[in-house]
Amino acid sequence: MSVKRWYIIVFIISVIGLAFIQYQYLRVGLNLAKVQFNQKIALAIADIREGLADRNDLSFLVGTAITKEKQFFNLSIDSVQDASRFFLNDFLNEKLTVNGINTEYSYVLKGRDTITYLRAPFSFEEDDVLLKYPFELTGYLEDRVGKDVILELQFKDLNQYFLFQLNGLTIPSLIFLVAIIFVVVWVLRSLYWQRNVITTTNEFINNLTHELKTPVFSIGVATRILEEKGEEKNKEVIGIIRTQVDRLKLQIDKVLELATLEKGKALFRRKKIDFRPNLDRLANNYQELSQIQHFRFHYKNDVESCMLNCEPDLLENAINTLLDNAVKYSNGNAKVVLEVHSEKKMLVVEVSDNGIGIAPEEQQKIFEKYYRISEGDRHEVKGFGIGLSYVKEVVQLNKGNVSLVSTPGEGSSFTVRIPLYYGKQ
Ligand code: ADP
Repeated sequence: MSVKRWYIIVFIISVIGLAFIQYQYLRVGLNLAKVQFNQKIALAIADIREGLADRNDLSFLVGTAITKEKQFFNLSIDSVQDASRFFLNDFLNEKLTVNGINTEYSYVLKGRDTITYLRAPFSFEEDDVLLKYPFELTGYLEDRVGKDVILELQFKDLNQYFLFQLNGLTIPSLIFLVAIIFVVVWVLRSLYWQRNVITTTNEFINNLTHELKTPVFSIGVATRILEEKGEEKNKEVIGIIRTQVDRLKLQIDKVLELATLEKGKALFRRKKIDFRPNLDRLANNYQELSQIQHFRFHYKNDVESCMLNCEPDLLENAINTLLDNAVKYSNGNAKVVLEVHSEKKMLVVEVSDNGIGIAPEEQQKIFEKYYRISEGDRHEVKGFGIGLSYVKEVVQLNKGNVSLVSTPGEGSSFTVRIPLYYGKQ
């Protein structure tokens, strides 16, 4: 299964897990809210009982409404009952609010024997599921009525009320969850899109380099014919054409290989060989080139033979690229050194120049594909910024590493280390 698919699976599991945890938190929160509500109700009930325990205006009015004694007021008993309902309602409302309960409620004042004395001005529908809190009113009212008087508080649909109270938690967590999903989907989409772009770019490079290869090949053949049949006095010029065509061929191969290396389809076949002849050949080429292009070149090789388990053509190309850069990025009077030695079971190939150097902040970036330093007099030097990314890729495929030491204005030194082969890998 592809890595991408794993990422998606892990992401989906994480989101589901997160949603589940949120749900559990919500349940815990709801339970806590219920416990808290019950505590508030208990306090409110205590307050209400206390408020109605003694004789006062309200308890007297309510008592009169229950006992229907007419002698105290110049009003019909219905009016007295009506007034009691409203006053009692106001009283309950105040006690509930003071104790932090702000939800819709209703009440019934009744006796043990299903007699209803008073009802709240507002009552719920018959089929509503109600949460009921009945409690006995002791003291004055009980004494006056001569029977138990029970006040029942009623609430409806408390879950909604609790959820509303928890909104401060649920809504932000939902928003964050949606935001996470949105961002991850966006990142995955752009990753996918980017991969498409890379593939298209690579295909484009492939096509382009194939188109370039044919004419370069023809020029190569024509040069060889000229070399064989041409006049002696033109030999030097033809020699330059030949070297440059070879370099061009190499560049094209490099681009092509980089594209395929990245796709992971490169036919990367390592073999066990002595790499010394390749190094000598490279040094020879540069010795010749240094005479034509007028730069100084030194080759120093401390190893007799160096067995590597590597892809020799690619590795040679990579070192060639470093030498090429050393010449390219020097201000005219280039001094290029190719030094080879072995160290800690590694073959160390060092390419140094006395060129323009590379600023510390650029030293990592230049190994990235298409990266070029665009300042100073480097504009004059043509390139595509693929040389060093190619070097890095090839060296890594050969299980080695490449490092750089450079001082702007003084020069650079690129070091390639490849494990030596001792016959057991
Ligand atoms: P290109 O040479 O095509 O631009 P490279 O990947 O080979 O691409 O190099 C990337 C950048 O690193 C170059 O643009 C150049 O600025 C810098 N660079 C490479 N080698 C050297 C060097 N020997 N000395 C100074 N700068 C260098």
